[in-house]
Amino acid sequence: MFVIVGTKRKRERLGHAADFCPICREFRAMRITRQSQVPHLYYVPLGRGSPLLHERECLGCGVVTAAKEVVYEGYADEAPADIVDLAAATNPDIMETWRDRLALEERLEAGTLTPEERLSLIAEPIAALEFTFRQTAAAEQVPTMAGIGIIGAVILTPTAVFALTSGPGARGVAAILLGLAVGAVFVAIYGFWSGGVRAACARLMPILLRALRPLRPAREELERVFAELRLKGLTVAKRIRAEEVWSALEADLARGGT
Ligand SMILES: [Zn+2]
Repeated sequence: MFVIVGTKRKRERLGHAADFCPICREFRAMRITRQSQVPHLYYVPLGRGSPLLHERECLGCGVVTAAKEVVYEGYADEAPADIVDLAAATNPDIMETWRDRLALEERLEAGTLTPEERLSLIAEPIAALEFTFRQTAAAEQVPTMAGIGIIGAVILTPTAVFALTSGPGARGVAAILLGLAVGAVFVAIYGFWSGGVRAACARLMPILLRALRPLRPAREELERVFAELRLKGLTVAKRIRAEEVWSALEADLARGGT
């Protein structure tokens, strides 16, 4: 007998909990969604499955971060207007958990951070964007360039084949057309790849600038942080350049951002 067993992914909204947002740099209400891998027998789920990760969507900035495990006391269906109420109900140890991090925020205001502490604070929001960056880049593939490439390949390929079969005299033309067709395919692939990445950069840059603004990082600091995050394999640090962030921050300051 043939038995159909396997696993499927399940997404479950757990509710709202209070947590620290590295982008907003303060406590915020987060919408928590659990992704699990659930075994099934003939497509009937067997049990609750094993959690793969928990998505935390900040209601302040909209950025989603992912964590393997979360330790909330409970979840609220609706986020109360007062974050203190939500924290009391869902994350009562929040002040204790984040005490050292909050102390850094105070020392940032007082201007007494060490250079290493500054680097870790600069790295924090960039690393926090990794999950959202990957999701946005995959979802927002702007296919303009890809579309041009596909149309090019579709027109050029049969034309090249036609030229190829039209006799020896047309071989040169056929070779050129085939070359162009191959080029068009590469343009299409590059368009799909870069379209999503550029869209993700454009969407997330203002969020990153807002998070970094209180730190006013120097160009060298950004370069060091991006190099370290690249070594750790973070896509966001590979696709966004330190130089790009620094120029955007300078432009932002020139416009009077505080
Ligand atoms: Zn936030």
